Amino acid sequence: MNAFEYRAPRTVDEALAILGEFGEDARVIAGGTALVTMLRQRLVRPACLVSLRDVAGLDRIEAVNGAVRIGALCTHREAETSAVVKERIPVLAETFRRVATVRIRHMATVGGALAHADPNQDPPVTLLALGARVQIRGAGGARELPVDEFFRDYYESALAPGEIVTGVTVSVPPAGSGTSFVKFLPRTADDYATVAVAAVVTRDGDRCREARVALGSVGVTPLRGSAAEAMLAGERVSERLLEAAGDAVKAGVDPLSDHRGSAAYKREMAAVMVRRALAQAWEAARR
Ligand SMILES: Cc1cc2nc3c(=O)[nH]c(=O)nc-3n(C[C@H](O)[C@H](O)[C@H](O)COP(=O)(O)OP(=O)(O)OC[C@H]3O[C@@H](n4cnc5c(N)ncnc54)[C@H](O)[C@@H]3O)c2cc1C
Repeated sequence: MNAFEYRAPRTVDEALAILGEFGEDARVIAGGTALVTMLRQRLVRPACLVSLRDVAGLDRIEAVNGAVRIGALCTHREAETSAVVKERIPVLAETFRRVATVRIRHMATVGGALAHADPNQDPPVTLLALGARVQIRGAGGARELPVDEFFRDYYESALAPGEIVTGVTVSVPPAGSGTSFVKFLPRTADDYATVAVAAVVTRDGDRCREARVALGSVGVTPLRGSAAEAMLAGERVSERLLEAAGDAVKAGVDPLSDHRGSAAYKREMAAVMVRRALAQAWEAARR
């Protein structure tokens, strides 16, 4: 680890001013669960660490106009246990519950999970399926991006230098919707996923009006299962259709071979998990 200056601003404006002062030599730290490892491994060597811990107003979870807004500094554990999240978007609380261990969930933050842009993480998958929007602040002001446009490449997000994530807004799925999050991790319960899938299915009688499917750990970013979504839209849902929708995502994923499985294995498991996630979401929509 290299020597660095440590700053603990109290407001977003102060944090942005420090980031402006140090430019590319500054690095934001929130929960530190990823960054401390990167510092130890000398993957990053910042001249200044800007802690967000004392920044006021970034740690709230609130219901706003049919949506839930989660501040960037909320921990995974807070999102998992929040009554607002559990009541309105239970699949999101369940997703945070499936991250690592409770000790890590007490440290890792919602903004950190987005900014880190590790394609093996769980929350981005469900946020993508739910069509969430990321709030960002920089020296030039505030902007908002759909999660669909936030992840750009392997560990690379749409954040420009000097920008920070301030929160994420997630709309409550429309009436008649069912949701699911499936995390396939054959090794240990606290591991990253071999394949993770989130699905949101909206019913129109016995037909599917709209389906949104997202996958993690099968590409350089979390991905939408667009082929599966297109197959379900407007159709009567059957076992056969769900199986075909699962198979349809195989061409759109591009997993890396690693100790969690070969690329070929992950591609097959992506199809299985998409079918399973869609079946669970459809079942929930019918209830
Ligand atoms: C052993 C272990 C197992 C894990 N398993 C899983 C798992 O199974 N599933 C899962 O989803 N996650 C898992 N995680 C957590 C995940 O990999 C990240 O460590 C975590 O999401 C990062 O959040 P953080 O708040 O600690 O970020 P930090 O470590 O503080 O920061 C990470 C990066 O994001 C930047 N950053 C942080 N906050 C902001 C912000 N608000 N604005 C702009 N940039 C910011 C930092 O500059 C840094 O580049 C695991 C972590 C560990 C250590």
